[in-house]
Amino acid sequence: MLGGCDAVELTKTYGTPLYVMDEQKVRDAMRAYRSSMEKYYGGNGLICYASKAFACKEMYRIANEEGLGVDVVSGGELYTALSVGFPAEKIGFHGNNKLPAEIRMALENDVGRIIVDGLGELELVDRIAGDLGVTANIILRITPGVDAHTHDFIRTGQIDSKFGLALETGAAMEGVKAALKAKNICLKGLDCHIGSQIMDVEPFVHTGEIMMQFILDIKNETGVEMEELDLGGGFGIRYVGSDDPVPYDSYMEAVSEGIKAFADKHGLKTPFIFMEPGRSIVGEAGTTLYTVGAIKEIPGVRTYVSIDGGMSDNPRYALYQAKYDFLLAEKADAPADSIVTVAGKCCESGDLLGEHVKMPMPKTGDILAVLSTGAYNYSMASNYNRNPIPPVVMVRDGASRVIVKGQTYEDMARFDV
Ligand SMILES: *Cc1c(COP(=O)(O)O)cnc(C)c1O
Repeated sequence: MLGGCDAVELTKTYGTPLYVMDEQKVRDAMRAYRSSMEKYYGGNGLICYASKAFACKEMYRIANEEGLGVDVVSGGELYTALSVGFPAEKIGFHGNNKLPAEIRMALENDVGRIIVDGLGELELVDRIAGDLGVTANIILRITPGVDAHTHDFIRTGQIDSKFGLALETGAAMEGVKAALKAKNICLKGLDCHIGSQIMDVEPFVHTGEIMMQFILDIKNETGVEMEELDLGGGFGIRYVGSDDPVPYDSYMEAVSEGIKAFADKHGLKTPFIFMEPGRSIVGEAGTTLYTVGAIKEIPGVRTYVSIDGGMSDNPRYALYQAKYDFLLAEKADAPADSIVTVAGKCCESGDLLGEHVKMPMPKTGDILAVLSTGAYNYSMASNYNRNPIPPVVMVRDGASRVIVKGQTYEDMARFDV
């Protein structure tokens, strides 16, 4: 059952592969973050949903209804948010290489904050703001040098990262001084994001303290006190049963206490904080349903169970060996007494969704459910092999509705000349 709907019935109505999103779970996660912000930080902050995790019009509408801000990382995400009337002042624009046209679009639409990623971009934003005759409200992305224990590709806090201005090298302070001098820029504060799928509170508390120390250093060197601190996202979720994520409240409590204590001790104001959860808003709300097709048993080697989707709708195993739990929808409580490799239908040996997967032995025609696929699945989907991107269905209280239509072959060929 997903959001009160029978999973197999959903596949009869909408076909497979099918992305299913549980609306209540999405809204509950948003509310939990907001209430933590109220409880532990007096509401002096804004939760910004990192929309790259799952972006479509309905998600921006829901984030708006729930009183969140959003982060976007491209003109396309910005366009989608604005197209449903998302309040521009609650949008933050991130990215390590924003295009001049994207910066112009953000400024023309009065986007709340541009999170500037480097010195070159600072000059670019200053120049474009000057051309448009506006002042750009910016936040500087800092690389705090925190090594969060997560996969290499999704780790971003250390010096060797394509993102941000490093503290250790002096680039961060140089960026602050340049931003304070720039004519068409108003420097509001600092941003950091140390990585994704982080399962400890400690790296976040540590990062908060490093950033507060930097705010103090800036005040001492320039006399200016930064008003805003963006602590990024990266809060871990449960992909498989053995994952044990920290409740949002615990992050918020520990990080708030650390920041408030630092501010009190050093005579700083407590900054307005932003948090940017992505996967922890949508990840566990999503389930992908597939139909099992070919089953190939190689005696003494392994058994491949192929489904009617794959890396074109979920590239995360191929990208970084992401782990998932798998169920058979009609036999959800059957003992997981087989070990299989779940393979996609793309012409790549690496097109797998999981290896060493424990589940009941499926048969052709069974409905296979992959859990916690709400983040970085639909948003990373491609038309590889000209597989159409599946529809997204939102479920809630036993009712379902399509929020993103599935592609047709015709859709895919539309841009061919
Ligand atoms: C990706 C990203 C996030 C969200 O990360 P999650 O792991 O999905 O929470 C937040 N902020 C920035 C700057 C990001 O790049």
